[in-house]
Amino acid sequence: MKIGIGYDIHRFRKGRALVLGGVRIKHPKGLDGHSDADVLVHAIMDALLGASGLGDIGLLFPNTDPAHRGASSVGLLKKVAAKIRKRGYKIVNLDSVIVAEAPKISPFAPAMVSNIARAAGIKSSEVSVKATTNERLGAVGSKKGMAAFAVCLLE
Ligand code: MG
Repeated sequence: MKIGIGYDIHRFRKGRALVLGGVRIKHPKGLDGHSDADVLVHAIMDALLGASGLGDIGLLFPNTDPAHRGASSVGLLKKVAAKIRKRGYKIVNLDSVIVAEAPKISPFAPAMVSNIARAAGIKSSEVSVKATTNERLGAVGSKKGMAAFAVCLLE
């Protein structure tokens, strides 16, 4: 069994689409980044890569590579999951937390879970997406950005 942890944070930027767990959410600002800036999926990929000893997303998908500009992070997760299977690992479960003051995540969580499960090649019952606010504290609390944490277990 191998356990992995992932963390990511992105700034909000006007004129960008907000994509979380592969779900496009109507919001005044999106997250800034080289890819679609899906902070949740980035944290999940880093948890998986950490557990399997494959490095991190910066190593696999450098933000200097034009091929990943605007890339779908769920698409990248699919690649990560394939690499992990190739190494002989099976994903047991994924748990995650989005930290954001807004928007409200719960209405979108089931769609995120299903996108992540499909990309990771596991059942929706093995994926969890939770959300909390930062109690208006710090950069996330003043709505400058959004963070996410993830853990996974591999067998
Ligand atoms: Mg990121």
